[in-house]
Amino acid sequence: MFDTLQDRLQSAFKNLRGKGRLSEADIDAVAREIRVALLDADVAVSVVRDFIARIKERALGAEVSQSLNPAQQVIKIVNDELIQILGGETRRIRYAKNGPTVIMLAGLQGAGKTTLAGKLGLWLKEQGKSPMLVAADLQRPNAVTQLQVVGEQAGVTVYAPQPGNGVGDPVQVATAGLAEARRTLHDVVVVDTAGRLGIDAELMQQAADIRAAVDPDEVLFVIDAMIGQDAVVTAEAFLEGVDFTGVVLTKLDGDARGGAALSVRSITGRPIMFASTGEKLTDFDAFHPDRMAGRILDMGDMLTLIEQAEKAFDAEQAAKDAEKLMGGSFTLDDFLKQMEAISKMGSMSKIMGLIPGMGQYKEQIENFDDREVDKIKAIILSMTPAERDNPKIIDGSRRARISKGSGTQVKDVNGLVDRFFDARKMMQQMAKGGGMPGMPGMPG
Ligand code: GDP
Repeated sequence: MFDTLQDRLQSAFKNLRGKGRLSEADIDAVAREIRVALLDADVAVSVVRDFIARIKERALGAEVSQSLNPAQQVIKIVNDELIQILGGETRRIRYAKNGPTVIMLAGLQGAGKTTLAGKLGLWLKEQGKSPMLVAADLQRPNAVTQLQVVGEQAGVTVYAPQPGNGVGDPVQVATAGLAEARRTLHDVVVVDTAGRLGIDAELMQQAADIRAAVDPDEVLFVIDAMIGQDAVVTAEAFLEGVDFTGVVLTKLDGDARGGAALSVRSITGRPIMFASTGEKLTDFDAFHPDRMAGRILDMGDMLTLIEQAEKAFDAEQAAKDAEKLMGGSFTLDDFLKQMEAISKMGSMSKIMGLIPGMGQYKEQIENFDDREVDKIKAIILSMTPAERDNPKIIDGSRRARISKGSGTQVKDVNGLVDRFFDARKMMQQMAKGGGMPGMPGMPG
């Protein structure tokens, strides 16, 4: 998903690299490339038009930023606008204040509703809820059994039609299921409904009747992300026929181009609330517009880091440090200063996790203990100024002295010196690769 779009956007941004200032023509050119990339990804034309208009307007009016170069500024604008078309804030389920929360699922047959019921059941359980699934899809052969199977896998109670209990009438099943949930003190009821292969009036009426009968707190419209442009038509039909409060995108693991994901919110005005990424019950999570935008841009959380770095570092000092890094004259004193600045920015491990390309350091990141900063500080402060300036002179006997002075072990001193050289090497590479200005020195 999004692979092609990702590549196309990256190549659009590439042309901005190395430019000191963006002219109107530069902005037009990048906007045109982004436009074609989105249209090729099957994003609805009206959505693309508005999107591009906003990008251009903001890029033209962009303030000259001290810490971001023009390419980074455009990426930041595109990122902001992607988050907007994906819905802005994460939208959470609105639980009922009294009695069970009712969540009704609607969508075409094969969209993944029944699977979703199981996923949602498991997810709700993990949120500390006591959900119950209600099998009101009486259209598709086996839908009831399928719901029972996923319910069992998820360890969630399933209410299935009993003879004499309204078999054949999905409205009665839904109502009876809700009554049963009340009686047995389940706090969330997920109602699975029937879908057809295409939109038809009878299907819409049935869903609308169920809706009227159970008065749901949320109606989730389930849509297969692989259906591309058709998603928009289907979404509009359901909006009119049943109405819904949120959208669930399924099959995001497929090799679809992503148009549905990027259009559905703008077209329907309803937020995407969940995303499914596989057939397993655990291939499912709440939908976060900011994370999805980050994924589309393949930027990790680089932008968050840029913003935090902007706040925590003064631009002049950062520029000086960057210069030192390039020249290889970065010392342990500078390292210590940056460590202190970083620890002001929050947890070290969190900060490091924000940097794309840090995947290879995953283990170190996870094992990083913020108390390490104090230890490192003690070690560096036990060095002589000459040693801090030129760590290469720190030989065996100096290491023993430093470890004694700082109350640490020789292996701690060795580790720090090694990490300093590693970090310096890495920073030099990043600086050469056109990375961010003033990236803080990272211990590895
Ligand atoms: P329903 O007719 O809307 O209830 O759809 P189902 O829940 O029966 O799903 C239809 C098919 O899509 C099944 O084979 C599911 O395993 C599959 N499916 C559902 N969600 C996903 C998903 O997120 N990714 C993939 N790859 N397959 C899915």
